[in-house]
Amino acid sequence: MSGIDTLPPLREVIATHDLSARKSLGQNFLLDLNLTAKIARVAGDLTGSDVLEVGPGPGGLTRGLLAEGARRVLAIEKDTRCLAPLSEIAEVYPGRLEVINADALELDAAQHLNAPIKVVANLPYNVGTELLIRWLTPPSWPPFWQSLTLMFQREVAERIVAQPGSKAYGRLAVLAQWRTEAKIALSLPPEAFTPPPKVSSAVVHLTALPQPRFEADQKILEHVVAKAFNQRRKMLRAALKGLAPDIEDRLIAAGIKPTDRAETVGLEQFCALARAMKSPL
Ligand code: SAM
Repeated sequence: MSGIDTLPPLREVIATHDLSARKSLGQNFLLDLNLTAKIARVAGDLTGSDVLEVGPGPGGLTRGLLAEGARRVLAIEKDTRCLAPLSEIAEVYPGRLEVINADALELDAAQHLNAPIKVVANLPYNVGTELLIRWLTPPSWPPFWQSLTLMFQREVAERIVAQPGSKAYGRLAVLAQWRTEAKIALSLPPEAFTPPPKVSSAVVHLTALPQPRFEADQKILEHVVAKAFNQRRKMLRAALKGLAPDIEDRLIAAGIKPTDRAETVGLEQFCALARAMKSPL
């Protein structure tokens, strides 16, 4: 029998360890090991990589990652009730699973891992979005990770891959697409989870590009894009008024009509605007 087959089914693990799902921790578990293996495969070939898994819970996805051959998995879990079932998995895969009991928002996990590193997580959506933004805006590029494979609410997943002209297009799309190749890899109905959440979910796979698609200063780009989409219905000359007295000239220098609205402006133009904000006109 292979390692994974010697472990009890996840429903049994949850009953034995009294792991009733807690809403406060956003716990919606994946119990189907065929599905968790499928999600692990979205991350690509894991054999030569360290994997950072955030929020392993009872370990369904963790099992998938190990069975798919991850060199090593570092799992960060906040709920102490999950530690015992995770250590049972660690016993079956000696030296390949390390679990840290911590809040992923407070831990610098990168220092515990060796390159190449892939990040895989089924996290509560609010924590997932906050971590995604942090992972997308590190102090320097390329980041510590090679790819991110993350579960999101379907609506958030659509915002990450959205194109100009659509309602979902905004800050998240610009930040993600500036330096990654982002795609929706899998869609999951609420019933895939225990307990089922109210909405559908999707797995997004983001691969870090070696360098940004277009040159821009990260801080300026973030600032311009946040301002532009904060008042997405306004014309850019009004939405960005506070940024510079000569904002109309800078928009024109970037090839953007001052009467355009943020949702019609593409990534390349936003990067041109970030550059135009930096240089004196
Ligand atoms: N990965 C498991 C699965 O797919 O079945 C569990 C997914 S559940 C949606 C989210 C998990 O993240 C829970 O186990 C929860 O305790 C954990 N979690 C929530 N907030 C966290 C945080 N800030 N840091 C680390 N883990 C967290």
